[in-house]
Amino acid sequence: MSLDSHAPAGFRSLTTPVYRGSTTLFDDAGSLRDDWRPDRTPYAYGLHGTPTTFELAGRIADLEGARYALITPGGQAAIALIYLAFAGAGDHVLTPRNAYGPNQALAHDLLARLGIEVELYDPLIGGDIERLFRPNTRLVWCESPGSVTMEIQDVPAIAAAARRAGAVCALDNTYAAGVLFDAFAHGVDVSMQALTKYVGGHSDLLLGSVSTRDEGCYEALGRARELLGHAVSPDDCSLALRGLQTLGVRLAHLEASTLRVAHWLAGRPEIARVLHPALASCPGHELWARDFTGSASLFSIVFADRHDRDAVHGFVNRLSLFKIGYSWGGVTSLATAGDETPRDYPGYLVRLNIGLEDPEDLVADLDQALASMKA
Ligand SMILES: *Cc1c(COP(=O)(O)O)cnc(C)c1O
Repeated sequence: MSLDSHAPAGFRSLTTPVYRGSTTLFDDAGSLRDDWRPDRTPYAYGLHGTPTTFELAGRIADLEGARYALITPGGQAAIALIYLAFAGAGDHVLTPRNAYGPNQALAHDLLARLGIEVELYDPLIGGDIERLFRPNTRLVWCESPGSVTMEIQDVPAIAAAARRAGAVCALDNTYAAGVLFDAFAHGVDVSMQALTKYVGGHSDLLLGSVSTRDEGCYEALGRARELLGHAVSPDDCSLALRGLQTLGVRLAHLEASTLRVAHWLAGRPEIARVLHPALASCPGHELWARDFTGSASLFSIVFADRHDRDAVHGFVNRLSLFKIGYSWGGVTSLATAGDETPRDYPGYLVRLNIGLEDPEDLVADLDQALASMKA
């Protein structure tokens, strides 16, 4: 029986089909070759990508103004890929102290075992990072705003210092979704994002991306991705392609709703500080105003220090529209409370992700949960 298609020809639709395949076929024995580079041998093996994967990669590259993009199984996989592409035994890497927790865990666990030394630096160091460079510094991470405490970094100053030192500057650009901050215009060599967050946008997939304009960086990243076997599902890529179609309207709506909620919280006596990049109370706010074109849905609140851990956990537990869970960038509002007071602040911190609910309903939910704190 023939395995050729039985479906009528001529189907055209607005969406990129989900192309599956581990084995991809060659015309003859002589043309068989394994090559991860799509510009040389586009479909050597499913691991390197299918048309669905490459369509997503191309659109992420367009969105970020990159020349090349690679899709990874998640944001954390993208972080690991960048470390392993650029650093080896005996090398030194600089990572901000407020970087995404699993990034720091990777540095202290697996990378330490491989002989890669990751030094944590003050995210607000700016151009003074110059003095932390060593002859063996290969990679400098930025994450702006940083995870949980939301400091905005002077990325152009750090990228310029990295360039002078001959180190690669990588940015975790997840907050900006590749939209609100132009990584390459600000001197970054390699930008990554968790597509899990805004590009996916519906809390139903895990993917990451790594993008660059630099041929040498692309070679190092593509080779490392191949060797690590970072395969991605075409179904997840298809969902990410769908998410991209509404990314702009979702970000605009989320920005407005989040600002409404953040400003409301800033006026509440229970809250000592609102760590939202567009508010002057956020460290590095002036850099956000200089370098970003907008703000997103994630921010943190620091409670006045008279509220202890149990009171703050009670506040989170009394919320009803806000759900409790990791990740962010979807349609649902989320709250996570820390078990310890953060560095630099005496009070307990809660991180909020604003979703697509009516912001007035969210304010009412926060209002009832704050009101019951006093009782
Ligand atoms: C969520 C997140 C990641 C990791 O993404 P996953 O797809 O969940 O692995 C990386 N960086 C930041 C800043 C994140 O918030």
